[in-house]
Amino acid sequence: MSAKRGSRAVADALVDHARRVASEGIVQTGGAFTDVAEADAFVRARPEAFLIGVLFTQGIPAERAWAGPWLLAQRLGHFDLARLATETGEVARAIAAPPALHRFVRTLPRWISDAAARVLAEYGGDARAIWPDGESVAVVAERLRSFSGIGEKKAAMAVELLVRHLGVQLVGLEDGCVAYDVHVRRVFLRAGLATRDTPDAVREAARRVCPQEPGSIDLATWLIGRQFCRPSTPRCDECPLGSVCPRLTWIRPQGVGVRR
Ligand code: SF4
Repeated sequence: MSAKRGSRAVADALVDHARRVASEGIVQTGGAFTDVAEADAFVRARPEAFLIGVLFTQGIPAERAWAGPWLLAQRLGHFDLARLATETGEVARAIAAPPALHRFVRTLPRWISDAAARVLAEYGGDARAIWPDGESVAVVAERLRSFSGIGEKKAAMAVELLVRHLGVQLVGLEDGCVAYDVHVRRVFLRAGLATRDTPDAVREAARRVCPQEPGSIDLATWLIGRQFCRPSTPRCDECPLGSVCPRLTWIRPQGVGVRR
């Protein structure tokens, strides 16, 4: 089999797997944002909780991150944007109280207050107005990136979760892309889909894999990286790409792959 045909076979297997993941409504392992049922419902039902959940998705396990908004609301006794915007000290104390809700006990409260203030000032207090149906993927990603604490990676992840798992009808899906996350990078590199570990190389590879909707493979790739393509003990024989992947398992991108 030629290298090109081999890469195409991996790409096709990845696209097929992404379709299965989407059809099964999987968000995390177990099918939810987080395994705390109330926290999962909170993030799904309240756009401002989803936005603040995105801020939590850094440096801690994903399930813990997505439980953050609900746990914060429990500790504060409210999830009122006006109070989140102005009572940064209270937010900080609630996040830092043992057991701390996050590693970033100094920066996260500031991000949360900034986000709450901006939703009030620029979106009429409704975070859903950041990602209205009919808006383009590119515009929504740009809006999200303009929030403190949301970079390219989180914005790409958030857009894909909105489209695939919260039913937001965005257009221009060809402009979406995978997040430059360590799990995604590991899979792309080991599966021979990307030959360089740079944001541009990984995104370009995603566009080759699925030109119509590059972002649609983001979650499936991340899940493969997390569940099967582990840094030191890859489970290639159980991996959805196992039958076609070249298994370049000695490749290990650096970084922390925690999000969603
Ligand atoms: S776990 Fe193995 S088969 Fe799956 S993507 Fe990683 S290297 Fe390929």
